Amino acid sequence: KPTAIVCVGMAGSGKTTFMQRINAHLHAQKEPPYVINLDPAVLNVPFESNIDIRDSVNYKEVMKQYNLGPNGGILTSLNLFATKIDQIVGLLEKRASPEDGKKTIKNILVDTPGQIEVFVWSASGQILLESLASSFPTVIAYIIDTPRTGSTSTFMSNMLYACSILYKTKLPMILVFNKADVKNPSFAKEWMTDYDAFQEALRADEEGNAFGGVEGEGGGSGYMSSLLNSMSLMLEEFYAHLSVVGVSAMTGQGIDEFFAAVQKKTEEFKSDYLPELERRR
Ligand code: GDP
Ligand code: MG
Repeated sequence: KPTAIVCVGMAGSGKTTFMQRINAHLHAQKEPPYVINLDPAVLNVPFESNIDIRDSVNYKEVMKQYNLGPNGGILTSLNLFATKIDQIVGLLEKRASPEDGKKTIKNILVDTPGQIEVFVWSASGQILLESLASSFPTVIAYIIDTPRTGSTSTFMSNMLYACSILYKTKLPMILVFNKADVKNPSFAKEWMTDYDAFQEALRADEEGNAFGGVEGEGGGSGYMSSLLNSMSLMLEEFYAHLSVVGVSAMTGQGIDEFFAAVQKKTEEFKSDYLPELERRR
């Protein structure tokens, strides 16, 4: 069965560019994936998609018709689309075991809306994910904007967010540190594996007043660093369950490593996650 790779991440982290890169990579390997775009508000999709939410819902019209702002428009579009998920899984199942001599697909790629919370914390997002995961091994690729996560505080917030998504989706996750061409993600890997290195960075950032300096609090007095300290202990447990890769969607570096992680997480899905999913159903 094909593995579904669902790309989530903050707006601007590079989900769409990353989709374009792994799509091109699979085409070059003569393993064209099945591609789904779930972002109703995107203007240009730089890859060819087999299923595009924009073909079935018009986001601008939804906004007008229901008198909604941008976020409400995206959410409602996603809700309308989620009502068709059975049809979509049907299509995917058919392509996963084609009868007409067509090649079977090995990967399903899913791009999600720029506003991460609209997908991860909505009922329709959950329905879409659960339907996918009940038919195919499904892994989450959490895309991170590496240049914008270089301070200990932004790094910590990003990791906590990833942790909450892992907890919410209960699916295997790969942390994808993107934009390695701009900033080398090795610092992140170090912080995730070496507690002392992270402590060191915490101290350095605190001296540089990286917390925006609420005077008399935060920074110097150390309540923030004490909080960060306890959180980093909690995160150690979280890190143990993750695959971490550094990539550049722009240049293509790290993509082989990413697919090795996908392989590993697919096996984990089958051995650890699937029994749990079935138990809960
Ligand atoms: P999305 O909102 O998560 O879908 O992000 P996009 O794919 O639209 O990318 C946001 C911005 O980041 C765009 O200007 C991209 O060109 C840029 N970008 C994405 N990936 C990379 C990368 O690996 N390196 C660099 N330098 N820029 C990138
Ligand atoms: Mg996008």
